[in-house]
Amino acid sequence: MKEEIKKLLELQKLDNIKDDIKDRLCELPQLIEEEDNKKKKFKKNIEDFKEALKNIKVKLKEKEIELQKNEETVKKNKEKLNTLKSNEAYKSMQKEIKSVENKIDRVESEIIEIYEEIDNTEEKIEEEKKLLDSEKENIEKKKESYRGDIEKMKRNLSEVKEKIRPLEESIDPELIKEYKKLREVRKGIAVAKADGTSCSGCHIHLRPQTINEVIQEEKMVRCDGCSRYLYMED
Ligand SMILES: [Zn+2]
Repeated sequence: MKEEIKKLLELQKLDNIKDDIKDRLCELPQLIEEEDNKKKKFKKNIEDFKEALKNIKVKLKEKEIELQKNEETVKKNKEKLNTLKSNEAYKSMQKEIKSVENKIDRVESEIIEIYEEIDNTEEKIEEEKKLLDSEKENIEKKKESYRGDIEKMKRNLSEVKEKIRPLEESIDPELIKEYKKLREVRKGIAVAKADGTSCSGCHIHLRPQTINEVIQEEKMVRCDGCSRYLYMED
């Protein structure tokens, strides 16, 4: 295999490793943020339920006052009942008492429902707290592992850069320029194997002359389809 091709292939391998490391380094802080968001979500749920509970308790207070007022009304009206002279007034008062008593029944059922709502909401708060507690450790472990990965990736990145630099310096700068341009537009692959009679990069059929030139190794040969540098295994 031609010396420049060997070098470019090695460079391409290292550049691809470098790109993978960089991708991972972009991704890891996002993963840490996702873990933080999980925790925030539990806390937000707990806060929302607490807020709901507060509102329910305000509603309960209102209903209790309403109940008390109605009970007082019934008591007063019952006292009045005995002082009434006319039959008509008596009946009318009885009717009014009945109506307020019905209202009392309704308010009492509403209060029972509110107590159930309070129980349910308190249960939900406890559930969320338990979930948060059980997930907390897990979340911290993951974050710790991601932070470890970041440190590792940073070390790997400088190691691979240390290998890339001398290799690049040993290759013709014009060739490096072309190689880099190709990698940009060809998904990181600037050097492709001539696979039998086709280019492994773009899969077009190579002309016999092109294949011959690759075998002869006298010059750098490029694919007619994708312009990638071509090589054959020794
Ligand atoms: Zn090609």
